[in-house]
Order: sequence, then C-alpha cells, then structure tokens
Amino acid sequence: MIRTRFAPSPTGPLHLGHAFSAITAHDVARARGGEFLLRIEDIDQSRARPEWEAQIYDDLAWLGLTWDGQVLRQSERAADYAATVAQLWDAGLLYSCKCTRRDITQAASAPQEGVAPHIGPDGLVYPGTCQSQRTWIDDAALRMRISEALNGKHYIDFQEVDADGVTLGNNITSSEYITEYIGDFIISRRNREAAYHLAVVVDDAAQGITHVVRGEDLKSATPIHVLLQQLLDYPTPAYIHHPLIRDAAGKRLAKRDDAKAISKFRAEGVSPSDIRAMIGL
Ligand code: GLU
Repeated sequence: MIRTRFAPSPTGPLHLGHAFSAITAHDVARARGGEFLLRIEDIDQSRARPEWEAQIYDDLAWLGLTWDGQVLRQSERAADYAATVAQLWDAGLLYSCKCTRRDITQAASAPQEGVAPHIGPDGLVYPGTCQSQRTWIDDAALRMRISEALNGKHYIDFQEVDADGVTLGNNITSSEYITEYIGDFIISRRNREAAYHLAVVVDDAAQGITHVVRGEDLKSATPIHVLLQQLLDYPTPAYIHHPLIRDAAGKRLAKRDDAKAISKFRAEGVSPSDIRAMIGL
C-alpha cells in the first residue's frame, strides 16, 4: 500500500510550492487507495510558531485535503531522535564538533592546493577540522564521519518516481561525489536538537512512508537520507521530487515570499480549483 506525507515547517505561511507538494502527495496516495499523512516539522523551536501551525490545518482543509491518522509533531519526538543518535554514536560513525559557522568558513576558504571550497545541501562542505575528535563532548554538535558511513559502498541509489506514480528510474550518486560535495554533515546540534536530515529519516520510517513527495530543492539531500536509512536498517521509500514553483520572472519562490501565500489567494476570492490550475495540477 502506498503511503505519502506532507511535512511542512510551521515557520511561515504555506504558499503555492507547499500546495504543489501537499496536493501531489495527497493525490498520488488517494488515486491508489493509499494513505496520506501529515507531519509538522517544528523541530526548530526558535522559528516554529503555533499560529503558522494553525494556518497549515486551515489551508489544507480549505484545499480539500484530508489526512489519515494522527498528526506527527517533531517537537514531541526528541526521545526517538536521541535514541537514534546514540545508535549511530555506538556504531562509531559520529564525532563531536564545536566549530562555529565562522570557523568553518575560515577553514574552508584557506588556500588548499588551489581547490575551491564546495557547497553542499547544508552550505559549505565541512573541512574536517574536528575529524580526529574521538570523545563525546556534551555541548558539541555531532557530525557523521562520512568516510566510515560509506565504507565499502560505491554509490547510493534510490527510485525516482514522477507525480503520476510512474517510475522514472534509479538515481545514483557515487560515494566519491558524496564525500566531496556533502561531506561530514550534522546529525545533531550543540543544543542536542536533531538535525533535519536525522529527523526526516527517523520520521519517514516511523510513519511507514513508501513515497516521499517534495520539491526538487531537497533532491540534493536525498542521498544523505538514503545513506542514513541504510545505516539504520530502514527501508528506502521511492522519491517524487516535483519542480519548484517560480515567480513570473522565473525566480524560485522563497519560503518567506508571502506574495504567493495560499491565505492571500483565499482572501482575494481564489478557489481551491484555481490554485490547482495555477500550479498545473
Ligand atoms: N519540512 C520541509 C519543508 O517544509 C520538508 C521536508 C521534506 O519534505 O522532506 O521544506
């Protein structure tokens, strides 16, 4: 049975890009007698707001989307994330890191045999400063020792599916590429908050998601998620990365761009079917 999810962060209004993800995930599941689940990604408590969460429920109901079962809220899942972090630590895959953003920028831009620093899904690829750290430090972030994590693997792959549920083929990323362009990514932050990559993988497994539907801006992070699934013995879902909604000038819609907020269209008298038409669904 197909099970999809919509996983918005309550850090601003839902806009047309969110509508694209939510409607696609909903329709893919419903067309095949599957389930559509909702997860509130409110792990970043400094940015999540209850009023945005309330607005999410309201906008989804207005769009005519109903979800199955209980809503999963990441702010209530710290114990599960901590248990998973402990599992990865015990497997010798993590190390403590106290580098600040500034330390990383400085180290990454130090002239190094003429190699330009690489930008990965989380920004600058970590230059490896703390790699020799072996002890657990309480107020440090934890990073994945990517060389260990990829040990023996030549590549990471997953099934890419289109918005109609048709398989497009295998997406393959080589281990060399992951080492160079993703590197030692963050698993948990200095305050012990789980990083997005960890939370999303733990939650997709907990919710039994078979098809992850999201914008193609997250595609570069998918090999990280598949690697984590493999390390944790979770099944790997299929992925539907849909095109991003762009503004009239072809510029990608920023999350903070309220101009395309669903609530704004609603206030202007636009109907849910107009929204579907606007995003080509
Ligand atoms: N919470 C993420 C967002 O709102 C989506 C994560 C995902 O779909 O994997 O952009």
